Amino acid sequence: MSLVTHLGFPRIGRKRELKRALENYWRGDSNADALQATARELRQRHWALARKAGTDVVPVNDFSLYDHVLDTAVLFDAIPTRYRPLLADDPLRGYFALARGHKRDGHDLHALEMTKWFDTNYHYLVPELERGQRFALVGDKPVAEFLEAKALGHDARPVLLGPVSFLLLAKTVDGSDRLDLLDALLPAYAELLEKLHTAGADWLQLDEPCLALDLCDSARAAYRRAYAQLNVLARRPRLLLATYFGALDDNLELAATLGIDGLHVDLVRAPQQLDAVLKSLPARAVLSAGVVDGRNIWRSAPDQTLALLRRAHQQLGDERLWLAPSCSLLHTPIDLEPETALDPQLRGWLSFARQKLEELRWYADALAGNAEAQARLDAQQSVLTQRQHAPGVVRPRVRERLAALGPGSSQRQSDYPTRRTLQAKALALPPLPTTTIGSFPQTDELRQARAAHRAGRLGDDEYEALLRREVEIAVRFQEEAGLDVLVHGEPERNDMVEYFGEQLEGFAFTKQGWVQSYGSRCVKPPIIYGDVARPKPMTVAWSRYAQSLTTRPMKGMLTAPVTMLQWSFVRDDLPRSEVCGQIALALRDEVRDLEAAGIRVIQIDEPALREGLPLRRADWPAYLAWAVRSFRITASGVDDATQIHTHMCYSEFNDIIEAVAAMDADVISIETSRSRMELLDAFVRFQYPNEIGPGVYDIHSPRVPDTAEITALLRKALDVLTPQQLWVNPDCGLKTRGWPEVDAALRKMVAAAQAMRATLAAA
Ligand code: GLN
Ligand code: ZN
Repeated sequence: MSLVTHLGFPRIGRKRELKRALENYWRGDSNADALQATARELRQRHWALARKAGTDVVPVNDFSLYDHVLDTAVLFDAIPTRYRPLLADDPLRGYFALARGHKRDGHDLHALEMTKWFDTNYHYLVPELERGQRFALVGDKPVAEFLEAKALGHDARPVLLGPVSFLLLAKTVDGSDRLDLLDALLPAYAELLEKLHTAGADWLQLDEPCLALDLCDSARAAYRRAYAQLNVLARRPRLLLATYFGALDDNLELAATLGIDGLHVDLVRAPQQLDAVLKSLPARAVLSAGVVDGRNIWRSAPDQTLALLRRAHQQLGDERLWLAPSCSLLHTPIDLEPETALDPQLRGWLSFARQKLEELRWYADALAGNAEAQARLDAQQSVLTQRQHAPGVVRPRVRERLAALGPGSSQRQSDYPTRRTLQAKALALPPLPTTTIGSFPQTDELRQARAAHRAGRLGDDEYEALLRREVEIAVRFQEEAGLDVLVHGEPERNDMVEYFGEQLEGFAFTKQGWVQSYGSRCVKPPIIYGDVARPKPMTVAWSRYAQSLTTRPMKGMLTAPVTMLQWSFVRDDLPRSEVCGQIALALRDEVRDLEAAGIRVIQIDEPALREGLPLRRADWPAYLAWAVRSFRITASGVDDATQIHTHMCYSEFNDIIEAVAAMDADVISIETSRSRMELLDAFVRFQYPNEIGPGVYDIHSPRVPDTAEITALLRKALDVLTPQQLWVNPDCGLKTRGWPEVDAALRKMVAAAQAMRATLAAA
């Protein structure tokens, strides 16, 4: 019978036990032993869970206290010098210093840089390497976890990030080529392979997700060199090369000729690659077929999945075909069972980590001719077939409206220069206008009140009164501090996606559907299961109330379509572009309602535009086209005199600046202060046509900037932008900050803008 396995399991625990254990330890409320005990309990619980769900071989070393890329760096001693004293002193504290920074006992260490793991919402820590970097096998985590699982009677397979992906995901601090370090790194990998072999590991899974990316020649050469060296080791486990998140495509021949013993491919994102893979797979090599979606929450469609599997099975037989999720299950919640509040019909379409392993068991059994498993799959197929007829899934009115949209609906009435004149007249703003990104501090009082309101302990009226007071405090403060375009402060919002999702049709929410974002941080993405529609205005009452408190322009505040999409679990029965278009239509109505309520400036936040970029460059233009169009559908229903803003953070816009400009927002605010306006380099090459507010201070830090610092950044911005283009604002929303810092920082910011205006007027 074909073997059932998986590539990795969520670490955080069904009730976020790891989060609690980590935070207790960081606060000093527990010790290393207590933290390790929780970690061990979670690993063992998850192995047992997987076995019970029908998994034959469980991965080990997929667990991590913080991040698996950091684990790999620590394992091979790829640690910047500055952390070494602390690591030598206390390895666990050193490890967390790398992850989160450390300021105590005479140490002042910044954390390693964090960035997105491919196109998921998981963030990994970027190893920092340098020319001449030495590596050594200094840890034994993979061996220890293998022995731990073996002692419990599990058939276990260690997992490790492969050497080439490790280097490609790292950065060098001196501009040297990180692939030059391969020869220094390989002996450490070789030593570990031998140790695993000695410990009794039959197989090792080497994750090389970079094989699903566009690779340059030197990366291809690195793959050849690396695997040639590992293959010739006399004492090593067999190697399963794991690829995921996309098709191998032009890297298939490379992957298939690395001499590996097994290959894992993603057949959810790229089912079309099966035939080519079957053709290229070396004789005797195992194929691990990733057939259930490791990064979304929908049940697989048995008709399609079985068809794929039968094709593979025909060629490979039982021995050479393994069944697995498409990628690590890290990106899905653990268990659907506690989600009793979900609509039962919707629940029938969903599959979290545990259910996905059960699905795989049924597929393996059905392939072997087991009638009961086949019957379960038939039942699953018929439930899914009915999905399209279920209430709320298809709303003909939404579909018709989207299909009927003409080009005019993604086009403002006039071009930007015309709009600019009309907006200037309507708003009468000074040069270098000041504003903020939307949220003001979410105080403890506010969070507690929201929790109490949700739990029914605080009445609607009291809660509403409290929010109104918060809005009024924010408005009075902004007037007094001298800001030009005000915001209401978003006290009513728990989260910028959830808040809208809860008011839109087509969205559903779980109680415990947590997914790790980084370290102890988890998110609970909404589920988009049906066509999106807006039953009634969502933000108009708050904006209208806030505007009633002041004569200065009050900025309306919405979350844009791509960000709504990117931070949700999106339905798999409709192209993402179409789901995005539906959200855009709902938001378009909201924008127009805000305008009708007298709001003259409306910001539509699109921070996730960049992270939605496909992994392969060839797919960028198509994505950017529908992403930009969705924004324009949202923004284009208003009069010329209404000013549309957008906001983006998380930086690195240089290579998509043309698409950003094509969104045609009148004003964009953008994160730049952490990179000291590096972003503005893009504007040397590309003349940004509209107005722009490059963030002048970093809201992620409690540090209050001086006026002089802000002035210096403004001066830098004026090197590449005209004074008519420039706005003055922080990097992002202020919700994570405290009032005293916000008060001080914004006053400095206003002072810097005023000083700069005076300088400009004099000149
Ligand atoms: N308007 C949002 C806020 O200020 C924007 C948040 C974001 O960019 N992530 O909180
Ligand atoms: Zn932001």
